[in-house]
Amino acid sequence: MTSIVVLGSTNMDLVAYVPRAPARGETVTGREFRTVPGGKGANQAVAAARAGAEVSLIGAVGADEFGARLRSALEHSGVDTDLLRTVEGPSGTAHIVVDDEGGNAIVVVPGANGTVTSLTHGDEALIGTADALLLQLELPLSVVVEGARTARGLGVRTVLTPAPARALPPELLAATDLLVPNEHEAAALTGHAEPHAAAQALLRFVPEVVITLGASGCLYATRGAEPVTVPAPRVRAVDTTAAGDTFVGALAVALAEGRPVPGALAWASAAAALSVQRAGASTSMPYRSEIEAAAG
Ligand code: ATP
Repeated sequence: MTSIVVLGSTNMDLVAYVPRAPARGETVTGREFRTVPGGKGANQAVAAARAGAEVSLIGAVGADEFGARLRSALEHSGVDTDLLRTVEGPSGTAHIVVDDEGGNAIVVVPGANGTVTSLTHGDEALIGTADALLLQLELPLSVVVEGARTARGLGVRTVLTPAPARALPPELLAATDLLVPNEHEAAALTGHAEPHAAAQALLRFVPEVVITLGASGCLYATRGAEPVTVPAPRVRAVDTTAAGDTFVGALAVALAEGRPVPGALAWASAAAALSVQRAGASTSMPYRSEIEAAAG
């Protein structure tokens, strides 16, 4: 079975639904409140597990109620949490205000995620057994760099989602095989708003790039070949939260299974399109049978 390791964050999303976001010093009354397991690392892990891989998550939760719930939600989705540490203090939280127009404002407090500053021998051994290591930027940068370099040294494919957007150190780019920014992150990294130009700029640092373009699909580029645009299936989107994480999780599985790139991109696009038709983050992620049926 395909084996994926994710080195990344686990957060409890605390979501308040309000008519409009409060201005500074103002209090508004919300309509509804939900707690939803999230974090880009955990979301990508769930997406890959549901897409049919054996998945382990390296990271940390706090010794609090959220930590216990986050761990059990991951296990429920089939993610191995043996190397997910439980540390003193609070779990990571994302405080999200969603207004009636679907706009949102988010504060992320890293909590336990911030304690993951280096890999253990156990983490390294696990990474060595994987077909791919998935990384994002919600853990301390030191461990993201260490993870990518460790995987590279062991011949394991590294897939980096550069979110939240920030400047990337050269040593991280040098250890990245596939970079998957959305169009805003690609523009922030390169200064090019146009995706083809951004992709060309990124290929100076990494061998393969996929820029996700929301409802417009994605752009794949590799050195020495014409870039390819893969359209997204036309669907009625009700909630695009974690579409990007669903896409990356499914793409990593498809590539690790040896599917050719165009087919893998279409498969990941089918998975992401299924997720946007349902509310929620990890709760909206499709299972392999659903992806197979949709991808045809
Ligand atoms: P998010 O932050 O919401 O997780 P993102 O900004 O990282 O998403 P997007 O580029 O918005 O990433 O979307 C990722 C992928 O999800 C797209 O490449 C596409 O395949 C799919 N997708 C997103 N929105 C839609 C949509 N409205 N219809 C069909 N597919 C979509």
